[in-house]
Amino acid sequence: MKEEKNKYESRRDFVKKAGKIIVAAPVIALPLVLSRKTSAKGYVWQIDPFKCTTCGNCKTSCVLTPSASKCVHAYALCGYCDLCGGYLKEGAKTISTGAEVQMCPTGAITRKFVEEPFFEYTIDEDLCDGCAKCVKGCKDFGNGSLYMQIKQDLCVNCNDCSIARNCPSKAVSRVPADFQYIQKDKEPV
Ligand code: SF4
Ligand code: SF4
Ligand code: SF4
Repeated sequence: MKEEKNKYESRRDFVKKAGKIIVAAPVIALPLVLSRKTSAKGYVWQIDPFKCTTCGNCKTSCVLTPSASKCVHAYALCGYCDLCGGYLKEGAKTISTGAEVQMCPTGAITRKFVEEPFFEYTIDEDLCDGCAKCVKGCKDFGNGSLYMQIKQDLCVNCNDCSIARNCPSKAVSRVPADFQYIQKDKEPV
């Protein structure tokens, strides 16, 4: 009977197919900009990225289209990997900026060469629909520097957030408005 591959074997296959993996220390640090909001009610909805299991419901559950939940990037944690699990489709035969190798369905992630062997990955928030595919890829094959956050400048602060209702990992909760984001690479803001 064929045994199911574990996570690490799958990862090895991915690395083998794609050719090489380079996970390096960050070479540059960019600030992660998350806009703040003053809520009339004094509370906002917040995602705890350490609880998020990248289920995909952020895209489909929000009352807004596209969702107010977006992927953000903690540059200080990023490995600036040549083979980025959040950027490349699993099994991609080439490593390039070509649309056919990109995991993001909306093309919201840009890959830019920094210096050998480092690349920088930038999210275009306007294109991101909150599907969390890149977040899953980064979590499975990288260090989790991509993660989901409810953008407070987009969120209409529903009384009963439908993402919170449909989040299987209970990662979304209502918090005081002076504690709007849990940033993976910083103190909460
Ligand atoms: S619904 Fe919850 S678990 Fe699913 S992607 Fe959003 S925050 Fe993560
Ligand atoms: S893969 Fe999904 S969550 Fe990630 S940037 Fe693209 S649209 Fe946003
Ligand atoms: S409070 Fe409403 S607008 Fe904000 S993330 Fe939840 S469902 Fe979307």
